[in-house]
Amino acid sequence: MISNPTKVNKKILFCDIDSTINDHWKRIKKWTIPEFPGEQIHWKAFIRKELMKDKPLPNAINSISRLSEKYEIHFLTARGFNGSKSYRLFSERWYDYSFGKLVLKINNFLSVKLPKLKNDLINSKQKYAYSITKDWLDSNGFVYDSINIVDSADQKVNFLKKVKCDLFIDDLSHSQNLSGSYVKLYDSVIDNLIKNNINFEIFNIEFNNWAHITEKYLNVR
Ligand SMILES: [Mg+2]
Repeated sequence: MISNPTKVNKKILFCDIDSTINDHWKRIKKWTIPEFPGEQIHWKAFIRKELMKDKPLPNAINSISRLSEKYEIHFLTARGFNGSKSYRLFSERWYDYSFGKLVLKINNFLSVKLPKLKNDLINSKQKYAYSITKDWLDSNGFVYDSINIVDSADQKVNFLKKVKCDLFIDDLSHSQNLSGSYVKLYDSVIDNLIKNNINFEIFNIEFNNWAHITEKYLNVR
């Protein structure tokens, strides 16, 4: 991690990852089956090899770096897929074989079921997606203070209700396999953010992109 310089008196920023700082839709489009637009997304859209190919969106790295002068940077992503990083019998190289989906299912079954059997609570760092997300952020040079993984968009609001949050940035869009990013928004999540007085920006690559948001919050006209 490239750690954020001194935290004294900084505001707190929580920031989404998929379609907010990366070109997530490119991956979803590639793996929509049988082809985009389509109802289903192939399981390979959510494996390490594919996630690591995501490219940062324009200005994302630089904007986060500039915002880190005023804000602690905490990433908050709904990447609960594939359970815990523990109890996974097979490495992802097995996924390339014709029986790859079966291997993934065994990994997921064990990594989801075994912690439950043992009554282990899986925190963000113990989730399988944590190490993938961390490696992607680090390899692209993002500055940050923490990575927080939840299972769904709804859970983001529950998470934010329990912490101090001065600003939340998220594209809040879903169904990228049907309409691309920034089209269909999580209306109930947006209502919930308003209800809970959480200050948020809906990221949009055209209208409310990193250049706009950075200018607004750093007052650099
Ligand atoms: Mg997103």
